[in-house]
Amino acid sequence: MCENCTTFRKGLFAHRLLIETGVDGLYGRGGVFEDVIHRFDNLITSFGGADGAEVVRFPPGMNRALFEKSGYLKSFPNLAGTIHAFNGNDKDHAALLEKLFAGEDWTYGQEATDIVLAPAACYPLYPTVAQLGALPEDGRLYDLQSYCFRREPSQDPARQQFFRMREYVRIGSPEQVTEFRQTWLDRGRELIAKLGVPFDVDVANDPFFGRAGRMLANNQRDQKLKFELLVPIESTEKPTACLSFNYHQDHFGTLWGISQHDGETAHTACVGFGMERVALALFKHHGFEVEKWPSPVRKALWG
Ligand code: ATP
Ligand code: ZN
Repeated sequence: MCENCTTFRKGLFAHRLLIETGVDGLYGRGGVFEDVIHRFDNLITSFGGADGAEVVRFPPGMNRALFEKSGYLKSFPNLAGTIHAFNGNDKDHAALLEKLFAGEDWTYGQEATDIVLAPAACYPLYPTVAQLGALPEDGRLYDLQSYCFRREPSQDPARQQFFRMREYVRIGSPEQVTEFRQTWLDRGRELIAKLGVPFDVDVANDPFFGRAGRMLANNQRDQKLKFELLVPIESTEKPTACLSFNYHQDHFGTLWGISQHDGETAHTACVGFGMERVALALFKHHGFEVEKWPSPVRKALWG
C-alpha cells in the first residue's frame, strides 16, 4: 500500500480516482474511475438491453412543481436540494457584492427557481408517463441514468451528495411489475458476482425522516417493498447498498394518474444501480490499480 493510502478515501484521492473539492461528498472523477463506471454501465446493458426499454435521460434537475407533488418533502425533507438564484435589480446586486466582500452571508436574497435537484433518476419520469395516457397491454419499461443529489455530506466516499443512478423502471400490472423485480433480483446477483466482490441481498427501508418516518420504514420492511444488494465498502459491519430493488405498489400510479390498459391504476417498480458505489466496491476489493484486478473481473468489464 502506498504511503498516502492510510484510508480508503485518501487512497482514492492519491490515485486520482476521486478528486477532492473541499466539500464532503462532492468529488471530481478521474479518467480511470470514469472508465470503470462506463464499463459497468455497459455490463448493466448487457443484462437488460434486450428487454427493449425506452431510453430516457433527464438532467439532474426537475420541475419544482412536480417535485412538490411527488411527496418527496414529506418523507425526505433533509435530503432535498433546491436551486435558488439571484433575481434582483442593480441595488440588490450592489447589496449582494457588499455582503460578499465583507465575508457576510450574501445568499439571503436568493430566490427559489422553478428547478430542484433530482433525488433519484426515476422522479422526473412518472409525470411524463402519465401524459402519454393509459398504458399499452404489456405496460412500459424505461432505461434511465442521471446524476442525483442528496444532502448527506459524509467522509464515507460511498455516500456522496452528487452521484449517478442507472435505473430500469417498469410500469404495468402488479404481476408484470413484481415479475420485473424478481428478474432483476436474480440478474443483480449474477451481475455483481461477475465483479468478484462479496455481497448480500436483504430487505431494506428508505431513510424516512422523523418519528412518522419510522412507521413508514417498518411498513416498507414488513411488506418487503425494498431489497438492497449490499457490499462491504467503508465498513464490514454496515455494508453499503449498491443496488436497490423497489416495488412502489400503486403509489406513483395513483399520485400521477397512470392507468393500465384496462383502466386499473398502474403499479411501478424500479431497480437502481449506484454507479459510484459499484465502482468504489471494485476499487475497495481489487485495489487501486485496474491493471492488477483479477482477470475474470477485467474480462467482465473490458471484454
Ligand atoms: P442508503 O440506505 O445507503 O442511504 P438508499 O436506500 O437511500 O441508500 P436508494 O434511494 O435506494 O438508496 O437509491 C438507489 C441507489 O443509489 C442505491 O442503491 C445506491 O447504490 C445509490 N445511492 C443512494 N444514495 C447514495 C449516495 N449518497 N451516494 C452514492 N450512491 C448512493
Ligand atoms: Zn426509482
